[in-house]
Amino acid sequence: MEKIKMTTPIVEMDGDEMTRILWKMIKEDLLEPYIDLNTEYYDLGLEHRNETNDQVTVDSANATKKYKVAVKCATITPNAARMEEYDLKEMWKSPNGTIRAILDGTVFRAPIVVKGIEPCVKSWKKPITIARHAYGDVYKGSEMKIPGAGKVELVYTAEDGTQTRELVHTGAGIVQGMHNVNESIESFARSCFNYALDTKQDLWFATKDTISKKYDHTFKDIFQEIYDAEYDEKFKAAGIEYFYTLIDDAVARVMKSEGGFIWACKNYDGDVMSDMVSSAFGSLAMMTSVLVSPEGYYEYEAAHGTVQRHYYKHLKGEETSTNSVATIFAWSGALRKRGELDGNKELMEFADRLEKATIDTIEAGEMTKDLALTGCCPIVHTLENPTVLNSEGFIKAIAKRL
Ligand code: NAP
Ligand code: MG
Repeated sequence: MEKIKMTTPIVEMDGDEMTRILWKMIKEDLLEPYIDLNTEYYDLGLEHRNETNDQVTVDSANATKKYKVAVKCATITPNAARMEEYDLKEMWKSPNGTIRAILDGTVFRAPIVVKGIEPCVKSWKKPITIARHAYGDVYKGSEMKIPGAGKVELVYTAEDGTQTRELVHTGAGIVQGMHNVNESIESFARSCFNYALDTKQDLWFATKDTISKKYDHTFKDIFQEIYDAEYDEKFKAAGIEYFYTLIDDAVARVMKSEGGFIWACKNYDGDVMSDMVSSAFGSLAMMTSVLVSPEGYYEYEAAHGTVQRHYYKHLKGEETSTNSVATIFAWSGALRKRGELDGNKELMEFADRLEKATIDTIEAGEMTKDLALTGCCPIVHTLENPTVLNSEGFIKAIAKRL
């Protein structure tokens, strides 16, 4: 069989620990036999980040601007223990944070749905994708404890020195100041509208604009203005909808919905709701994640980390049963997007085939340990006597179906 050709490279960001082991297996068993894989390789493994003073992370993000599509393996974000373990020169920042800052993107997280392993919310038939605005609000806030009598004000001093004041509170208590910027909200809105068009799903957005008449209302207004000016016609042509409502109404509707839409969330809402949605769908190992920039750059990855505990078992020569589904879907997502941008139909079809083979494998009862644990809340498990495979065995079982 002739291998599928790729005209433009994908930026390949290798990573750490157990996911680095899976990465190699996925390439060898599921990709390279079928595709003349064309990637520009960046080693984001912690050792190499340390050797290059983290320049490799910056380079990989800049390469993503050039080629538009990247696929990333999970990476270690160093802490004190890792400083010692890897004898690091510095406590390097989170690679995901660095990449996101350079690409100015929004992260979309979507569960991978498999028949037989169903979300505990019975009405959810299709995935719910969460988009979290990853800038500002309480995450860049200033706070004070006010010990006694006196007043707290918001003061804006313009460049010419004139001041505008707003009383917050008089007397003891706690106060908080936070901000956002229009430009960031605009980027967030465009990333969401573009991703909705890309995936042909409705877009929901919600804030508390009735209470927060300036702060939250600005989010609502910016979304609506951009939608009306740039996306209304495109959405209608694609047969999808932009739907705005209050956050509490959105939560109630989400619980009763069938899924199959994108839920854009302000920073805090996204932090909280993504944990709710992902745990209701079962497992972090079945969750994909894609960073979408307003300019149309895409970086695909798994939502989980490097699975350190399994890696240490692997190093001791013990067998592991680590779920590679999210990492496989990161590759299929990137390959499909590459195919779309290059008009490479074969590559797009391969991405579909790879995802189908992966899901078919699980639906046929062959899976890793995390999925096979029956009766484990909150997943409703209806697959009879699943066969538990090890990390490699699961990938080989998928390869058989490709
Ligand atoms: P983790 O790697 O997501 O793993 C936490 C636990 O979740 C595992 O011990 C395992 O549970 C289960 N798990 C996660 N993914 C799994 C998979 N694919 N298959 C089977 N089980 C899976 O989180 P962590 O241990 O907190 O973090 C490890 C490293 O990852 C840290 O250095 C952190 O900085 C990094 N991290 C990176 C990213 C990223 O690059 N996007 C994201 C998060 C964390 P059991 O042990 O019970 O089997
Ligand atoms: Mg959270």
